[in-house]
Amino acid sequence: SYGIKNNKKFKYYNPQIGFDEQKRVTLVNGFTESLNNNEFYLLWQPQYRTRDKKLSGVEVLTRWHHPQYGTISPEEFITTLEQSQRICDLSQWVIGEVFNQLPLLHEKHPGLEVSINLSPQDLMDDRLVHYIDSLSDQFAQYCEFVTLEITESLLIDDYSRVLSTIEDLKKRGFKISIDDFGSGYASFAYLQKLPANELKIDKSYTDLYREQTTYAILETIIELAKRLDMRIVVEGIEHQQQIDLFTNLGAERLQGWMLDKPMSLQSLMSKT
Ligand code: C2E
Ligand code: MG
Ligand code: MG
Ligand code: MG
Repeated sequence: SYGIKNNKKFKYYNPQIGFDEQKRVTLVNGFTESLNNNEFYLLWQPQYRTRDKKLSGVEVLTRWHHPQYGTISPEEFITTLEQSQRICDLSQWVIGEVFNQLPLLHEKHPGLEVSINLSPQDLMDDRLVHYIDSLSDQFAQYCEFVTLEITESLLIDDYSRVLSTIEDLKKRGFKISIDDFGSGYASFAYLQKLPANELKIDKSYTDLYREQTTYAILETIIELAKRLDMRIVVEGIEHQQQIDLFTNLGAERLQGWMLDKPMSLQSLMSKT
């Protein structure tokens, strides 16, 4: 009967859901403590300018080493923190870390630009902008060196809210980047709606560079971005052919394992 079927279904699915749910609750409940206990740290992945092959930018990528669960992938903890509305706290921590390191970083690499990943959720209220305004005035001069990358991980339902946050951030000097372009929900809608300064081509496209149709698509995307006055960054560069291809296609910056893996700040500081 209906009742028994339902019961069976419940028994079958429950262990799996129960496990994930328990982990999620543990991670979320201990999140503030984890932040304070330095379980989070940043890796920095260089970006190189195609024109002169110089180091010109770096993307910060957050890592979480948890005492109970070990290393948790960003995909997992970002989703978990988004679902529990805590992602903005992580974003604030990352921004604070970057601003703290930028003066020293610029002593070694003058003018180096830093990219920070944000969640669309960060743009849906005022908390991030308030946090940035609460930081010491001495950081204000560094905003122009910071690019905020937005991924299409969530469908944005309130564009006017998101747009006004983006305008607030741009007023303070930040650049806006559309990350993982081509991988998500609303690639072309984003291009049309968001006043972004940069487009990052997703590594799923970078990877398909050998295929003729992909080549045509890449050529078109890059042409379009140029007409919209956006900088093109290509992520996931793993082969020399990709460097050649994207240099020829007119991309400004390249990032990927072939060039450098994400590294500690110390390694970045000791790069020549
Ligand atoms: P993303 O922003 O697209 O970052 C690029 C990802 O590609 C990073 O994965 C990087 O380690 C990886 N990668 C770099 N070079 C190569 C390559 O040549 N080949 C391949 N296959 N992969 C490469 P990671 O560090 O695991 O981060 C995954 C995603 O998690 C990021 O993708 C970003 O969306 C998110 N994320 C990471 N840190 C943060 C953060 O602080 N805040 C937010 N909101 N999201 C973050
Ligand atoms: Mg990114
Ligand atoms: Mg990306
Ligand atoms: Mg990505």
